Amino acid sequence: MLTCLRCKRSEEEVALLTLKYRGENLYICPQCLPVLIHKPEQLAQSLPGAEGFGPPAEHHH
Ligand SMILES: [Zn+2]
Repeated sequence: MLTCLRCKRSEEEVALLTLKYRGENLYICPQCLPVLIHKPEQLAQSLPGAEGFGPPAEHHH
């Protein structure tokens, strides 16, 4: 069963969005998507390398 990479809810409980990463399909629910966007480092345990997903350096303040 497909589950959100952060909250582990399944596609039976929530809508899941598909992410393509390093040749794999990952799934995240809309409620967790803002975390992926704004606090990706919180997902590093579930998503190796996520800590590097932040904004490009030239836009970082
Ligand atoms: Zn979730």
